[in-house]
Amino acid sequence: MSIVNFSKSFIPCIKNTKFLSTLPSPHVFDVVVIGGGHAGTEACSAAARMGADTLLITHKKETIGEMSCNPSFGGIGKGHLMKEVDALDGVCGRICDKSGVQYKVLNRRKGPAVWGLRAQIDRKLYKHHLQKDLFENTPNLKIIEAPVEDLYVEGLSDSCSKCCGVILINGTKILSKTVVITTGTFLKGQINIGLDVRPAGRIGDAPSIGLANTLSSIGFRMGRLKTGTPPRLKSDKINFNVCEKHLGDEYPIPFSFLNKEVWIKPEDQLPCFMTRTNSQVENIVLSNLHLNRHVMEEINGPRYCPSIESKVLRFRGREHPIWLEPEGLDSDVIYPNGISCTLPEELQVQLVRSINGLENVEILRPGYGVEYDYVDPRELRPTLETKRVSGLFLAGQINGTTGYEEAAAQGIVAGANAGAKALNKSPLIINRTQGYIGVLIDDLTTQGTNEPYRMFTSRAEFRLSLRPDNADLRLTENGFNVGCVSKKRMDLMEEVKVKLENGKDLLKGIQMSTNHWRDLLNLSQSKNTLQKTAFEMVSIPADNVTIEKLYKALKLPELQQFAEDKSLATRLEIEASYEHASTIQAKEVEEIRRDEQLIIPENLDYADHSFNLSIEEKEKLLQIQPQTIAAASRIPGVTPSTVLRLLKYVKQKNALNAVNC
Ligand code: FAD
Repeated sequence: MSIVNFSKSFIPCIKNTKFLSTLPSPHVFDVVVIGGGHAGTEACSAAARMGADTLLITHKKETIGEMSCNPSFGGIGKGHLMKEVDALDGVCGRICDKSGVQYKVLNRRKGPAVWGLRAQIDRKLYKHHLQKDLFENTPNLKIIEAPVEDLYVEGLSDSCSKCCGVILINGTKILSKTVVITTGTFLKGQINIGLDVRPAGRIGDAPSIGLANTLSSIGFRMGRLKTGTPPRLKSDKINFNVCEKHLGDEYPIPFSFLNKEVWIKPEDQLPCFMTRTNSQVENIVLSNLHLNRHVMEEINGPRYCPSIESKVLRFRGREHPIWLEPEGLDSDVIYPNGISCTLPEELQVQLVRSINGLENVEILRPGYGVEYDYVDPRELRPTLETKRVSGLFLAGQINGTTGYEEAAAQGIVAGANAGAKALNKSPLIINRTQGYIGVLIDDLTTQGTNEPYRMFTSRAEFRLSLRPDNADLRLTENGFNVGCVSKKRMDLMEEVKVKLENGKDLLKGIQMSTNHWRDLLNLSQSKNTLQKTAFEMVSIPADNVTIEKLYKALKLPELQQFAEDKSLATRLEIEASYEHASTIQAKEVEEIRRDEQLIIPENLDYADHSFNLSIEEKEKLLQIQPQTIAAASRIPGVTPSTVLRLLKYVKQKNALNAVNC
């Protein structure tokens, strides 16, 4: 099939060579990514890094990397995802290190395993650096601006349908071996302000109707979700003096393993401020519920990032915090985090002006809600390829998640796997013992979701080993083996790994009695004569024995490189404090890994009476089609005895295969 040239009136000719106004004809791309948001940008750059001939098709060049909602990245659980995306050579962490205006580690009171690295981001800088990276530094990537209307799928009526490309709104067919859809909130998107309803993917952007119809006509199970965003405020009339001031960290920690520091000087970071809701806010919300269509809808919104209306309805009488966050260095816009709302505009003005410090504030853009279609993520395999259509991958908010980080994490996996499929390489599969990305994908693909899914550390059962500090040690080699991680990054990881191993050996080799240690390190005296290694001394949180203190006390030249490299020293200290817990957890991880390797055959007949399944189990197993015994065991409603029967079956089958080989 030949490809029709683009009409010049339809796609503006862009001087940058990356941008295509016509396509080489005939041409079959390896990977086409639809959507230049947070999932799409990671997906297209991962595929391109792998050497796949990649095309990104997105509505508008200028909205590539747009932060639709909050001007921040990271946070609890989300920061872990970003470190993992970075460990796989993804873009968002590096870009945040170049565009943050305030960096802060959340959850500091708890151990480093659950620290949440977060940064306020300058929106304009983020887009600028991300676009520069894609346009100038990503070989194998081409970009066009156009709405995709339809998919080009072969064999739809058979059980083995295959995605062969996409069709643009003007009828142009673009062929590709694989397609990744990352359309966010755009599928049949509709925005709500008060009783006013408008079709839109987000404010100022048209929705994707055709693509949503295509997905549902293919037979994908779809649902509807909603989310919302707060009004944007003009900073000049805010009385910050009556608000609580919050500063960034004295030593900002970069998101990327490639960086030793972030771009901004610690003292130049912008402050955030905090104020609170009050009873007047509550009254305005409650007396105007009938004017608030978004709230009346029976569609699920984000439980962990709720609108002010949901908070008032769920927790009457509480004063909720509102964070006043700067949108950028040269911006006069303040993002009031915590009052996402969908009241009519004039009532939003009343609401914000009833808040301490905001009495004279001007609203630059009202808050609004958005409703959109999503695909039940149980339609997906752990590679994020759909089970129904081979070569078609989905990532981001289309799979029922919320947040830039969740989108980026899925994007990198879908992009790498689309690239791997097109290039006949082995897939990138991350399981829940290896990373938060694995937890996210496993939760979505085995349990599905009926409300916007957000990552938390509590979702990861192996969180003591899945720490932000060791994401590179856990994942970089996997990424390198499939080809989405550069040699430079792999070499750096190996260098760090060797240094850490040497550091551990060195500290474990220095041993003396506890009282001797305490004497040497100026700690309160103890009569304990038990022998302890330097590594054990570092692991006792109450004593706060740092590598630097050890170096000063022991004066060992071998310790100098650690004492002089703060990030390496911190990593070694964290390794010491989690050594014991990680050893215990390693056994459980090993058990799960064994079960993860027990693959359930794809066409297993669950109706077979020997499995003795209940109707519920049969339905769920048929619908979810778990790929491994471990995944089957996590499906709610599937009993342990059923899992055992499946296990027995898979083991017998493996044994039979081994004999036949
Ligand atoms: P997006 O970043 O939305 O990107 C989708 C991309 O696809 C866009 O570039 C779009 O132009 C393109 N596109 C869509 N259809 C087509 C097509 N047919 N052809 C070509 N290109 C297409 N997250 C939170 O964590 N907390 C919140 O409170 C929150 N509130 C939100 C409020 C609103 C109003 C919106 C819109 C989003 C909110 N989010 C929130 C979600 C956050 O913005 C998303 O989770 C994240 O951006 C999803 O990334 P994505 O890549 O899946 O989609």
